[in-house]
Amino acid sequence: MSAGVRIIMFGRQGAGKGTQSARLAKHFDVPHISTGEMLRNAVKQDSVVGRAAKAVLDRGELVADDLMLSLVQGRIGQEDARTAGFILDGFPRTIVQATAFDSLTQTRPVGFVIDLDVKREIVLGRLSSRRVCRSCDASYTATGNEPNPWQCSKCGGSVVQRTDDTPAAINKRLDVYEAQTAPLIAYYQGRGSLHLVDGLGSPDEVFERIKTVVETGLRR
Ligand code: AMP
Repeated sequence: MSAGVRIIMFGRQGAGKGTQSARLAKHFDVPHISTGEMLRNAVKQDSVVGRAAKAVLDRGELVADDLMLSLVQGRIGQEDARTAGFILDGFPRTIVQATAFDSLTQTRPVGFVIDLDVKREIVLGRLSSRRVCRSCDASYTATGNEPNPWQCSKCGGSVVQRTDDTPAAINKRLDVYEAQTAPLIAYYQGRGSLHLVDGLGSPDEVFERIKTVVETGLRR
C-alpha cells in the first residue's frame, strides 16, 4: 500500500507541516525529509553546509537553490526513499527548485502536493509561541509559564525557541513565503497534483483530512 507514496507538504511556516509530515511518514512507513531540519542539524554539527547556512537561517531568508537541490538529491537517492517514497517537508520553496526537482523525479514523479492552508494572521500567533526540542525537533506551544529551557517529554532534550522564531525573522520568513513559495501553488495546480487541505483544527482532524486525500488518490 505504501510503495511509491511521494508527497510534498506545502504551506506557510507554522501551518503544521512538520507535525503532519511526521504523522504521515509513520502512517505510510516512508521517510520524513525536512530540509529545515537537515539544515538545523548541519548547523548543530558545524559542518561546511551548516556554516554556510547559519546566518541565512537566522535571518529567515532562503538558502541557495543549488545547495538545497544537492541536499535533497542526495537524500531521496538513499535506499529508504528510493524504495518506499518520502514525505518532503519544506522543499521545494522556489520555482527553480520545483522545476529542477521535476527533472530529478521524472521517472517516479511526486503523487500528491498537499497545500496545508492556514492564514498568515493565525500562523503569526502560532510561531511566536512555538518551542522546539533541540534534540528531536518535537514541537510545543508555550503558555508563558514554563521554565526556559524545559524538558522534552519525548526524549528529555532541551525545549527552546528556534533562533528563527523571533518576530523579525518570522515576518521575514512569511514575506519570503508569499514572494517566492506561494507562486508554487499555481505551478502545481497547473499539473493537477495540488490538494488544498484546511489546516485549522486539532492535529488529529487535520491528519484525517490529509490521509483521506492521499488514500482516495491511491485507490484511483
Ligand atoms: P523550515 O524548518 O522548513 O521552516 O526551514 C527553516 C529554514 O531553513 C528556512 O527559513 C530557510 O532558511 C531554510 N530552508 C529550508 N528549506 C529550504 C529550501 N527548500 N530552500 C531554501 N531554504 C530552505
